[in-house]
Amino acid sequence: MSHLRIAQIASEVTPLAKTGGLADVVGTLARELETRSHKVVVFLPFYREAKLALKSVPQQVRKSMPVHLAPGLTSEVNVYQATLPDSKVNVILIDNARAFDRDHLYGTGETDYPDNADRFILFCRAVLHYIKETGEYYDVLHCHDWQTALIPVYLRKLYSNEATLASASTVFTIHNLSYQGVFPKETMVRTGLGWDMFTPELLEFWGKVNFLKAGIIYSDKMTTVSPTYSREITTKELGAGLEGLLKTREGDIHGILNGIDEVEWDPSRDPHIAAQYNRRNIAGKAACRKALLEEMGFEADEKEGRLLVGTVSRMAGQKGFDIIAQAAAKLAKKPIRLAILGSGESAIQGQLEEAARAHPKSLALRLKFDNALAHRIYAGADAFLMPSRFEPCGLGQMISMRYGTLPIARATGGLIDTVKPWDRKAKSGNGFLFRDATPESMLKAVDDAVEAHSDAENWKALMHAAMGENFSWASSVKHYESVYSHAITAAEKRRKRQ
Ligand code: ADP
Repeated sequence: MSHLRIAQIASEVTPLAKTGGLADVVGTLARELETRSHKVVVFLPFYREAKLALKSVPQQVRKSMPVHLAPGLTSEVNVYQATLPDSKVNVILIDNARAFDRDHLYGTGETDYPDNADRFILFCRAVLHYIKETGEYYDVLHCHDWQTALIPVYLRKLYSNEATLASASTVFTIHNLSYQGVFPKETMVRTGLGWDMFTPELLEFWGKVNFLKAGIIYSDKMTTVSPTYSREITTKELGAGLEGLLKTREGDIHGILNGIDEVEWDPSRDPHIAAQYNRRNIAGKAACRKALLEEMGFEADEKEGRLLVGTVSRMAGQKGFDIIAQAAAKLAKKPIRLAILGSGESAIQGQLEEAARAHPKSLALRLKFDNALAHRIYAGADAFLMPSRFEPCGLGQMISMRYGTLPIARATGGLIDTVKPWDRKAKSGNGFLFRDATPESMLKAVDDAVEAHSDAENWKALMHAAMGENFSWASSVKHYESVYSHAITAAEKRRKRQ
């Protein structure tokens, strides 16, 4: 395909700012597209975290650029340009100290920042204003999640007479439908859009403004991060109140499975782990396991070899950690140990802390965000637990497989698309799936894993299968390219109709 100019507009990108999978996807997708000779520019708010993560001093390209937001409402931003570390990808950083120079990206673990609507309205408008000013042309503006969902509607309603912007097509990716950017009605005034758009068919959502709806209604094409999730979001069960609207655009939604960053997540050259290993020679994994047992405060157990289960996750209702907490007493009776790394909602953290206190020999907990420890868990554990209630794609199961660590996961979303459940008779598979979001269903899958693990040869074969899975970005990127070309065609047709 011909080389495209693509803007990736997002609220996270690794390694500059990350709370979850979104950052990994944007970072890797941008790099991969660049290596395929497209011209890629990432737009990101200049958070404090990004300032600390940048290896070189960014170049200031705009000073005190006024950004018109709504009648009588203007703000100012500085704009910086940098390179995404270890790549040639340009990053444009939108700087406004009041909005973005904060401890966190979206809020403390407890509550969101009360001005998140204004922070991301500013970001969206500043990005478009900057593109307009520079006169740079983009074939595709690829927007991600609610934080950038207003861009497609702004483009159509406020910038349709601007030559450079009017010709761009938009692709909108839903990484997680449960975060929609829903704000009080009064926010409408500050979006710069008219009240005529505050209707249930457009941006209103039960008396409030819903930013995500703008992305769904006004983008040329949409993607979700796994094929199964693209179908699930049109159902009542997982449509989060938007299933009806999503159903009307069903034909425009493509499910593209995320890949993983194969440089960051590679046991053969991972600097964070006790010993490197690969699919042909997995000897080093035993050293990683031993080191992890020690680090998490568990007794060594070379002879007994109890199943060491790890997990690394945000602690949110979605991830099913309450199921782990409920099952803790029963898990403690099983021949397993569970090492948990995560941070997030304090109620869930509290439940797990209690469980870890009650069962110190079988449950160890680290409540923090720690990338290096995450690497050591992926490498050192035998199995990786993901009891997600829903999972748009999930990276943890794919990363763990690459480290020969077999996922024990709930059958939902991207987990269905990636985990091939253990077949007792055929001795095949690459992990374990359970159907219901209940302690019983999860415990049964843990039992299966313990059973499979007790047959060392079988376990080795499963590890071998898991490590052989291809979770590279190569095929996903081709799929995105095809969505981009569909979006460009759709935008051309749309313009002809206007
Ligand atoms: P989500 O995007 O819903 O949080 P994913 O499974 O798609 O879930 O991606 C999670 C990513 O964030 C993985 O790379 C995982 O290793 C990382 N991660 C999550 N929590 C932590 C943590 N506490 N410490 C380090 N890394 C974490």
